[in-house]
Amino acid sequence: MPDPRHWPTGAELAVATGLLVGFVALLFVLSCIVPGRRAQGGAVAGEAPRTYTLNGMPIFVIVLLTAAIGQPLGLIRLAALVVLFPALLVVANALAFAASAALYFRGRHEARAVFGSGLRATLQAAFFGAERQPSLLGVDLKLFSYRPSLIGLVLLNLAFADAQLQEHGTLSVPMVLYQAFMLLYVLNYFQFEYGMIFTWDIVAERFGWMLVWGDYVLVPFFYSIPAWFLVDRLATPPTWAVAGLIALFLFGFVLFRGANEQKHRFKAGHDVRIWGRPAETLGGRLLISGFWGIGRHLNYTGEICIYLAFALTTGLQSWVPYLLPAWLIVLLAHRAWRDERHCQQKYGALWEQYVRRARFRMVPFVY
Ligand code: NDP
Repeated sequence: MPDPRHWPTGAELAVATGLLVGFVALLFVLSCIVPGRRAQGGAVAGEAPRTYTLNGMPIFVIVLLTAAIGQPLGLIRLAALVVLFPALLVVANALAFAASAALYFRGRHEARAVFGSGLRATLQAAFFGAERQPSLLGVDLKLFSYRPSLIGLVLLNLAFADAQLQEHGTLSVPMVLYQAFMLLYVLNYFQFEYGMIFTWDIVAERFGWMLVWGDYVLVPFFYSIPAWFLVDRLATPPTWAVAGLIALFLFGFVLFRGANEQKHRFKAGHDVRIWGRPAETLGGRLLISGFWGIGRHLNYTGEICIYLAFALTTGLQSWVPYLLPAWLIVLLAHRAWRDERHCQQKYGALWEQYVRRARFRMVPFVY
């Protein structure tokens, strides 16, 4: 395959800048004009909830269809992104730093009220973000940024698949499995956009370097590492290994999606039957039916299984793709700990009762 491990040339940097700016601008224009259901999200205490346009799915489909039609017609050559990978990575970093600086500047008055003044406060505000819900032309920038992030991830993955096809004339079984898993995962995100607008990141987190860099650099460039390792892996794994991989992915998916959906339905207050029975609660505030009665963060566990399945498609030749599930374990274990501190403060004795009922955080009988 064309080796992406090289220092980008000036010409590559220029092309990458055009591509990246054009891609983000295109998604932004689509976010403004593509119709979608309007839905009210969550809000922190004392603030009014924001209304979002949930048009991520049609935008994702438009981009996929454009690639699916443009590639055979020779108008698009996804494999070119593999050669441009280092240039895109450099430009994405530059854009992330520039966008974080602009966001800080935009919200500097709010930042001063929240973080105070002085160098330390400025750095904190730039890192964690000044404004909680910045928007541009009516588009919420936090929700928007998941789009270039995840659609960019899918396009980079497909670029590695195209590189395999160009190089070896075939798509291997592990590559097909990986692409199918990732596509389902991202499709699930866009289908569940109505639930995402109640998540901690969208509701409570401020929008600064941490989230911007995560969306525009970490997710597309780090999360696509397994695809890179799959390009030259042509051997078909034994049937039992393929079956095991699919089982692990589906198990994770059911846990991840099932738990998130159960909590969302409970919070929304409609159709609160879980696994065929009326939902049980503690004080009408905490759900103890379904996955939430078994563990306190099984949605995180499910997502870790999904990422493990991504990495396992590459086999055991290198540890590098396993950095992905390892990173997610650290991120989500920390998130679970942080979330439980928040819940303890918010729910007090009711939370302690819940912890006694659902004794394990992420892995029943272990943790
Ligand atoms: P959770 O779905 O775990 O939500 C936690 C919140 O849910 C709590 O703060 C509390 O909020 C409420 N809650 C907790 N327990 C109960 C209960 N038993 N009954 C009712 N409400 C309860 O996490 P997030 O919203 O943070 O994340 C959503 C998804 O996003 C997760 O599946 C996560 O895996 C995924 N994610 C993925 C990342 C990635 O990089 N791949 C990064 C971050 C998240 P309240 O105060 O409203 O009651």
